[in-house]
Amino acid sequence: MSLRLFNTLSRQKEVFIPLTDKRVKIYVCGVTVYDFCHLGHARAYIVWDVVRRYLEFCGYNVEYVQNITDVDDKILKRAQEENVTITELTDRFIQEYNKDMASLNIKTADRYPKATEHIQGMIEIIQSLIDKDIAYVVGGDVYYAVQKFPSYGKLSHRSLDSMQAGASGRVADSEGEVKRYPFDFALWKAAKPGEPYWSSPWGNGRPGWHIECSAMVKSCLGETIDIHAGGADLQFPHHENEIAQSEAHTGKPLARYWMHNGFVNIGGQKMSKSLKNFKTIRSVLEYYDPMAVRLFILQAHYRQPIDFTEEAMDSATKSWQLIHEGLRFNLDFAAKMDWCKDQELKDNQYLQDFRAAMDDDFNTPVALSIVFELAKILKKERNMLEHGSANHLNSHEVIQIQQTLQKICDTLGLTAANSATRQSGTLTIQAELLDTNHHINQTIPEEEIQLLIAQRKEAKKQKNYQEADRIRDELKAKGIELIDQKGGDTLWRYIST
Ligand SMILES: [Zn+2]
Repeated sequence: MSLRLFNTLSRQKEVFIPLTDKRVKIYVCGVTVYDFCHLGHARAYIVWDVVRRYLEFCGYNVEYVQNITDVDDKILKRAQEENVTITELTDRFIQEYNKDMASLNIKTADRYPKATEHIQGMIEIIQSLIDKDIAYVVGGDVYYAVQKFPSYGKLSHRSLDSMQAGASGRVADSEGEVKRYPFDFALWKAAKPGEPYWSSPWGNGRPGWHIECSAMVKSCLGETIDIHAGGADLQFPHHENEIAQSEAHTGKPLARYWMHNGFVNIGGQKMSKSLKNFKTIRSVLEYYDPMAVRLFILQAHYRQPIDFTEEAMDSATKSWQLIHEGLRFNLDFAAKMDWCKDQELKDNQYLQDFRAAMDDDFNTPVALSIVFELAKILKKERNMLEHGSANHLNSHEVIQIQQTLQKICDTLGLTAANSATRQSGTLTIQAELLDTNHHINQTIPEEEIQLLIAQRKEAKKQKNYQEADRIRDELKAKGIELIDQKGGDTLWRYIST
């Protein structure tokens, strides 16, 4: 069985064959850095992170590039409002972006090219398009003549005729009458007073948005790449225009496969600032474990819309707890299980089922059903070990199950390390929020928890395991779960009710 993915170009699942054997070049359209990222960004970058991780799992050497748009109308406006320079604003939100992505365990890209560092490359492409009579200059602006690119519309599957019919005769747009044709788009915009500009053969100005990606793909990955990805809202016009620019410039296909992820709705409605249901990643992570967010997103197929509700998040939180327990099974039972870390993971039915699910256009909901199956087996074993009854499976089998779970979770980017379980301090805030939002009644002061943890550590040192277990149970009854770490540290967290 081989990997098949849905290619927006053909509207079909196609067998994935990279341009170069065992290498995959991916370009993902990145953020415009003028504000905090929202849940839509979380979804997109989690989805592309899983695509990348799975390709790596399959043995591909993946080169992942994601751009940063650091010059744009929204950036200029925000910088003016906040009375800061554009660089101050963009640097700040690049940092915030990095924090959000790290919380969600999204691997860093191999490169994050910035638009402002690729102006020369953009000018070169624009000039070549003018030379080919595909672009034209009006005043200090340069436009792309879409009618000169015969396959314009091939990605979004619309023709210029149908677009024009849809426009019902109203062809003038906000950019005025200077364009020759209403669907022509700006490659270069003449400088306006007070805005940043670069010099060009057409006078001072700045690039249009679409040309940025054409230049950065070419500069970072070459003329043809394997996968170009982004949100469904980028299909038209952004990706259509990227294709028109790059393919008219090079005469080669820009990408072999185009992939698009679905939207995030909030309580059944499309997320938007005007509806005031706009959720930043930051605000969501104040209430929910980042891994529960990741799980929630992967529970839907990446092309389907997804509905963010409290119920869905509570359910994801519970599911993550089950998986999390499974992931640390080896830590919790190291002594009892005669744990052998070096035991090699053998191929098995679960891994085969996982591959089959992911090979089918990255079907993460099916992949997660395998994760739950494994976590449930470990839960059963945990119960039996905790109650001293005879093990259902032998240690060898349990180790294989646990390692299979680990391997699959790694590939899905689900990790205990990024869970809300943290050392005191950070967790206090988390706990307070959980308290107000999840109505946990049994709050006990952090000092008391720390004291009990210290007493338990001492008891373990004295080999008084009965007392150690008693303290653990006492805290559990109060809604506090203890998690022992390698090296003797103990973390704790509230168990949501
Ligand atoms: Zn782009």
